[in-house]
Amino acid sequence: LPPGIKRAAHQAPADSYLFYQAHGTRPFIDRAEGIWMHGQDGKTYMDAASGAMVCNVGHSNPRVLKAMREQMERATFAYRLQFQSEAAEGLAAEIVDLMPAGLDRVFFVSGGSEAVESCLKFARQYMIATGQGTRYKVISRHPSYHGSTLGALAVTGYTPLSAPFDPMMRPMPKIATPRHYLDGGTEDEDAYALRHADMLEEAILREGPDTVMAFIVEPVGGASTGAVVPGAPYHARIREICDKYGILLIHDEVMTGVGRTGAFLASEHWKVVPDLIAMSKGFAAGYAPLGAMIAPSRMVAKVLDAGGYAHGHTYAGNPIACAAGRAVVREVVERDLSANARIMGARQMAGLRALKEEFPFIGDVRGLGLLQAVEFVADRETMRVLPPELNAAARLVEIAYEKGLIVYFRRTRGGQSGDHIMVTPPLTITDKEVDTLLERLRDSLVALRKELAGRY
Ligand code: PMP
Repeated sequence: LPPGIKRAAHQAPADSYLFYQAHGTRPFIDRAEGIWMHGQDGKTYMDAASGAMVCNVGHSNPRVLKAMREQMERATFAYRLQFQSEAAEGLAAEIVDLMPAGLDRVFFVSGGSEAVESCLKFARQYMIATGQGTRYKVISRHPSYHGSTLGALAVTGYTPLSAPFDPMMRPMPKIATPRHYLDGGTEDEDAYALRHADMLEEAILREGPDTVMAFIVEPVGGASTGAVVPGAPYHARIREICDKYGILLIHDEVMTGVGRTGAFLASEHWKVVPDLIAMSKGFAAGYAPLGAMIAPSRMVAKVLDAGGYAHGHTYAGNPIACAAGRAVVREVVERDLSANARIMGARQMAGLRALKEEFPFIGDVRGLGLLQAVEFVADRETMRVLPPELNAAARLVEIAYEKGLIVYFRRTRGGQSGDHIMVTPPLTITDKEVDTLLERLRDSLVALRKELAGRY
């Protein structure tokens, strides 16, 4: 424990009294600005993960800090049933302006899991309010990640995280996430995408259309798939199928939203409009816990008329979080950080492609904007995976950390979702910083190559 932190006198002595995984092996954070994080170990780290794809506008952004300070001086908390808040109302108005037409009501929460839970429970209440009470099933994909609370976990397609809790959750149907590369990469991409979209229709028919309420999807895969971008026709076909059966389409933009993929919402790339959107992470960019469900007023009206939305959290619409979110969204829009994500994303992708040429154990590099991933394999031709005990992706993350480069952690467990790292720096990254990132990544790959030599 660093000086100034006292040991708990009547408890067992510990290096850390927290019990997050891997926590004790990390240095204490001293300060952070832009893309750089300074540890109390005296080392400077490049944050090429944006924490966990959170800090889209970088650390210590002066405009966000000022907005938060100003809000703090006025009121730090105002409970939504007792006061309206200019910060919350203002952020809602500005965010609605950036949404597709019709998505015009905002329900604030404090994180991604809460945003997903809100969508699921809102969808259910909408079904009841419109006389469709038999509908409760939410189809989702495997692999996928939608959060760690029990509702969000039930639709998460990643059994190492969900299996222990199966008896506590209602099983929800899953369809395969399209992963063209990991499925061999030889089938025509559009045909592959459509075949996977059509699995939704098959699942609806199998389950019985009058029992299915919604389909939830990450428009671009997150850490569970390694930035998998579905083939061009996928999202439009999914929308068609949902419409055909009166099923709500929920886009989980928790990771992809607020400019990350080179557009404010990832769904803009395909011009597909969902019924509900879950947002968080980049929304307040790590400055405060903030998330939201965005819903159309025509649906909200039905739920409110039928007695109200039976859901909510104490911290919802917290003024400091909303002030932070408002400043973040203005930064993203006014500085056009989505455009920077596209430009710097292209530079970074070119660099990753060059690394793929150099390191045969890189099977694939992919992504959209600054949501990118590098997939490790034993054999590019056969797509044979590296032996799980080598834990290649996790090792790379450790090696890079040692070299002052933070890339996104994922634990390789049973190869369910490949063996990849995420390279997702803040959207404010400059071309020089992209080059530094790539140099440090290359150094790390050289070290990993040494470790892997002769072991697969
Ligand atoms: N949905 C997606 C797509 C996510 O990536 C995450 C977080 N990784 C969540 C939901 C859950 O968000 P949180 O950790 O803030 O609860």
